[in-house]
Amino acid sequence: MNKPKVLISRCLTFENCRYDGGIVNDDFVEKLKDYIDFVTICPEVEIGLGIPRKWLSLVKDNDNFILYQRATDKDFTQDVKRYAQEVFSKISDVDGFILKGRSPSCGIKDVGYSISKKNRMKNGKSSGIFGHLVKEKYKNYPVETEGRLRNFEIRENFLTELYTLLRYKEIQRSMKMSDLVEFQASHKLLFQSFNEEGMRKLGKICANLEKRVVKKVIEDYHKNLLQIFSKERTYKKNINVLDHCFGFISEFLTKDEKNYYFEIMSFYRKGKLPLSVPLNIIRGWAIRHSADYLLNQYYFKPYPLELMDITDSGKGRDY
Ligand code: SF4
Repeated sequence: MNKPKVLISRCLTFENCRYDGGIVNDDFVEKLKDYIDFVTICPEVEIGLGIPRKWLSLVKDNDNFILYQRATDKDFTQDVKRYAQEVFSKISDVDGFILKGRSPSCGIKDVGYSISKKNRMKNGKSSGIFGHLVKEKYKNYPVETEGRLRNFEIRENFLTELYTLLRYKEIQRSMKMSDLVEFQASHKLLFQSFNEEGMRKLGKICANLEKRVVKKVIEDYHKNLLQIFSKERTYKKNINVLDHCFGFISEFLTKDEKNYYFEIMSFYRKGKLPLSVPLNIIRGWAIRHSADYLLNQYYFKPYPLELMDITDSGKGRDY
């Protein structure tokens, strides 16, 4: 299978291009290099600011956010906007984004801004100029910062979305209804864990009772597939799906195995274990008992096993 294509801020392990000539080391990004086709961008360098350069800030000027360099009294907002349009016109088949958090250019929601060109005091948080344009243009695509990806739940969702979109590219290439039907069937539980209503809507599109031409069906399905990911995949939704799978296989399990499942789920419920742990326990039982219905579900193998990593930043759930 091909690799997902991800646009990434260049200072995240690729080049010393930060304002002070620094680079951001990140173990997870390093690990991803074998599994992802990265396209690197650095808006501040690409618009002609050198390395090193004077510090830039996000300033709320009337109702608009601007990228402002206090040392030179220059506003680089339009330059970054032009650069973003250039980048977007060249990356038609991108699957997701990893952007540097807290950057006035690349940040996606945690960038401190001030309301005065003179005063550095922060008045709130918003997205950086480039990051905002990414979120606007690629609504519902997986977009994360390196900081958020240190949390295992955010990372699992990000990778799941990324690899699901990659698998869907195969359907867009083949343009066969039979492939679409198979895709829907094998992602049913995965979709259910994000959004049950959306999963049913995709099922209807796939059934194609209106007899629309294949191209239209595949385009419509893609749009709705992205919308499924716009709903937060909470641990409660995952517990519902996991319990459904457990119910499917429990008649083959011993009392001790069942108790083990309940124990693991109590840790998962508290946010002490990533989803990959109960997933792989059920998958192991499904293999032993040849439960094909479960084994065919991408819910159990959403992305390469090598990327399942239980290290975590320690930040708890915020949902
Ligand atoms: S945060 Fe963005 S603009 Fe700043 S150095 Fe990194 S890639 Fe360049």
